[in-house]
Order: sequence, then C-alpha cells, then structure tokens
Amino acid sequence: MQFKDIIGQDAAVAKLRAAIDRNKLPHALLITGPAGTAGLPLAHAAAQYIICQHKHDGEPCGECPECIQAQKIGHPDLHWVYPVINKNTGDKDPSISDDYLPQWREEYGKNPNLTLPQWVRAMTSAKENNKQPQIFVSEASAIINTLSTKPYESDYRVMIIWLPELFSEKTANKLLKIIEEPYEKTFFLLVSNEPDNIIGTIQSRVQRLQLAPIDGQGNFVQPGVKVPDETDREKFLDLFIRMMRLSYMRNLSGMREWSLEMAKLKREQAKNFLQYAQTMIRENYIMNLREPALNYMKDDEKAFSERFSPYVNMRNVEGIMHELELAENDIGQNASAKMVFFDLSLKLIMLLKAGNQ
Ligand SMILES: [Zn+2]
Repeated sequence: MQFKDIIGQDAAVAKLRAAIDRNKLPHALLITGPAGTAGLPLAHAAAQYIICQHKHDGEPCGECPECIQAQKIGHPDLHWVYPVINKNTGDKDPSISDDYLPQWREEYGKNPNLTLPQWVRAMTSAKENNKQPQIFVSEASAIINTLSTKPYESDYRVMIIWLPELFSEKTANKLLKIIEEPYEKTFFLLVSNEPDNIIGTIQSRVQRLQLAPIDGQGNFVQPGVKVPDETDREKFLDLFIRMMRLSYMRNLSGMREWSLEMAKLKREQAKNFLQYAQTMIRENYIMNLREPALNYMKDDEKAFSERFSPYVNMRNVEGIMHELELAENDIGQNASAKMVFFDLSLKLIMLLKAGNQ
C-alpha cells in the first residue's frame, strides 16, 4: 500500500508522512473516521513507509522485499489485529487474529476499506452469525508475546489494530501499559470508527489523527478534545498559566479575581478551557516522563511547560486530572462558575504542594 493509493485524505497523509520523516510519529496513534473511510489502508501505507528500506519521494518504494511482504500482509514485523468471532469452545483460549489470517488477507485484499459487517460475514457461516466479534484477552497475550521478541527483518515493528472499540475490558487493561509507555522501535496504529466507545483509559493515552469525512483536513488532535481556535488557545493558555501560578503562590485574592473572570466566560467556553487544561496537564506529565518528540505543544505552551512540568508527576497527576474533570462536569451541570473555579484553585494548592515534595 502506498500513500498515493489513499483517496481524499491528502491532509492526513501529509501529516503522517511528515511525522514519520521527522521521526515524530507518536508511538501510539489513533486514526479515526467513519466506517468505510480510509483508516486501514492509511495505517497500512504508513506501516509500509516505516518498514521500507528504499523509500523515496515520500512513498514506500513498493518493490523492495519489505514492501512486497508488507503488501501481501505477510511481513513478520507488520502485525494485524482485528476483531474476531470466537470459534473455540470449553477451556480453550478465545480465537485471535492469526486464526483468521487467510480470511483477512483475502477480504482486506479485495477491499481495503472493509467495514465490520463485511468482515463478520467473511468470518462466519450462517448458523454462527449471531456471535459478537471482539478483540479477546488472548489477543492481548499474543501482542505482549510478539513484543517480547526482537523485530525480525526491520529496524521497526508496527502493529495495526483495527477497531480498538471492540477490545474486551480485560484486553484493554492488559494492553494499557504497552500503549501508554513507548515500546522500543514499535509503533501502534489504531484505526477506529467509534473512538468514543474505546475504553477511556486507552483513549486518554493516544494521540488522534482524524480523517476527513470526505475531503478536507485531517489533523493530529489531542486525546478526546476539540482543538480550540488560535484566539481561544492563547486565551486559555494565559488563564491556565495564571491559575497554576496563583495556586502555587497560594495567592487567595488573586485566585478570587481569577475565578470572577472565569465566571464571565460562556459555559461552553468554560468547559472548553477545562478540557484544554486537562490536555496541558497530560502534556506536562508526558514532558516529565518521555521523549520530547512525543509532545504536541505549541512554542508558547512549551516555554511555560519547561518550567512547570516538574510539578506534574506521579504524585499528583491523577488528582489534578480528577479535579479538572469534576469541575468540567459541575460547569456542565450549571453550578456557579465562580464557586467551581475558586474551589478548583484551592484544590490545586494542595495538589501542587503534593507534587513538589
Ligand atoms: Zn520498499
């Protein structure tokens, strides 16, 4: 699969290609778009681009042994995970993707924009068709097993996971750590039609690339958050910096003034700010933990975060996120914004202190 085969997703292709070229591809990327959009072939082209030994002009060459194996769904370092119908009974572990590899090669080969109902039909006989497809916990074990070995032929290994919204709860829990922490030379490309149905703990750990519905701009998006426009973003950053400084300084009168100002925002704006604040906390935590290449911040955000991120760590990150979520929820329920924001800044005093020990 090559990028030129992907129709109507020029912006998403350009973003992915540039991220790979600059060595800035997030280790776990969630590609989202409605059923039938080009998420799967896009992930496939990206994987082949990563693995190809002779890429040129922004494309995998299509001719080297790596490309040929990748095209045939037979490259040992390009793994495919998709929901399956469990055909095992009794004490046997539930089925995994590899059990259906021949069918997958055939169906995906025929139609790379495959939908779930089409795939289910290809897997099942008429009498089984009420069984629900899932990515079972046995798949998580298989993935972990794969990752415990070195890549066979390539410098990198890529795991394409189609429809992570069909992870069982056990699967999601088992994969959480792997998806959260970069695995050496491994990329996860998750392709989802219904990202809001992915278990929250996974959603919050991956960067998103939204496909254009038909045509238009695909963008890297912070997990679960609408991107504010540039004017809002600058305003939100300023409010965020002030909130953190005032709470850190325990400046009660400043905090009161700040919450009065916050109360003047429209409710929708106030909620957007709280989502933005969650993104910033997450980014600061990542900055504290990981390679800077995995951070998605603008320069002004980075400038503040370089000083602020040491205060966001294991000891307080969950607490801060929790308080921001609660505040967002309260604002949504029409609570007094002045009270909600003042209360939030009081909580932040304790939380920032906890992070500074
Ligand atoms: Zn190649």
